[in-house]
Amino acid sequence: MDRHTHLEGSLAPDWVRLEAARRHLSVPDLTEAFWRGEAHSFEAFIATFVFACGFLTSSEAVAVALGAAVKRLPPPEPGLPRGIDLWISPHWLVKERRQISLAHLWKGLEQGIETARCQGVRVAVVIDAVNHFGPAHGHEVLDLVLGERPSWVVGFSTGGMEKVPFREWAPVFERARKAGLRLAAHAGENGPASRIREAILEAGVQRIVHAVRAVEEPSILELLAERQIPVDVCLTSNHALVPGLDHHPLPGFLAAGIRCGLGTDDPGVMLCDLPGEWQRAMGTGISPEAAQRLQEQSAEDAWCFQIGT
Ligand SMILES: [Zn+2]
Repeated sequence: MDRHTHLEGSLAPDWVRLEAARRHLSVPDLTEAFWRGEAHSFEAFIATFVFACGFLTSSEAVAVALGAAVKRLPPPEPGLPRGIDLWISPHWLVKERRQISLAHLWKGLEQGIETARCQGVRVAVVIDAVNHFGPAHGHEVLDLVLGERPSWVVGFSTGGMEKVPFREWAPVFERARKAGLRLAAHAGENGPASRIREAILEAGVQRIVHAVRAVEEPSILELLAERQIPVDVCLTSNHALVPGLDHHPLPGFLAAGIRCGLGTDDPGVMLCDLPGEWQRAMGTGISPEAAQRLQEQSAEDAWCFQIGT
């Protein structure tokens, strides 16, 4: 079960290299260095992410990206549910970059979801808006997707730099909620711990992605535990992008009674897969009991099993 992965960050480097060669483009040195693990700066991450997702220009490419996400799940095992909660940024692809139409994006996702279903993998899609672009952008994202929303689009989220307070985003989240979408937010990753509290209390967010900086304020750990707010934990991504993160707070989250699930975030950019994330999680020193709870709650709180297709 992959609790948090982005379609745009899923394309495998080999596919991107082939596609670049087919279009007579060369892969930037910074991107190759990032893939080799030699250039872990936020700038190198963004450059690699943007270069790779520039190839999502057809429904076929979209289906390939989703297929790449499926391949990073653990192999089928009796009794272990397989699913993906997939974040996508349609406004970026359709309106900002104008590289694919919404109809082709939906078509590619439909194909990818159908192929995944044939492999016993359930998928739910969460629409991601960019926090630092502000609430007007959030409304544009909803204008784009709410008109002809496929049934597998089940959630709305914000990502990017946590610069705009969630109280300013509250009307956008409220509109998404009234339209039948569940609410999530990337928070406490590049912004302060207080963003997590704001997202929950001021914008009604039901699920937090990352929440790494929650450990800075015990009251926020308590809030997450008390309200049973699921947290999506992405260890490889956090170690690459959160400065000064020597020890991941996952053991502390589990000890505080916070419900967690593991995700890969941008595994085509930061080169990881779910079995590797599990190894990393076990390497944090969590107990076998905590690992069992993590495994159960990863699936129990996954939207793809609750309302996905
Ligand atoms: Zn993310």
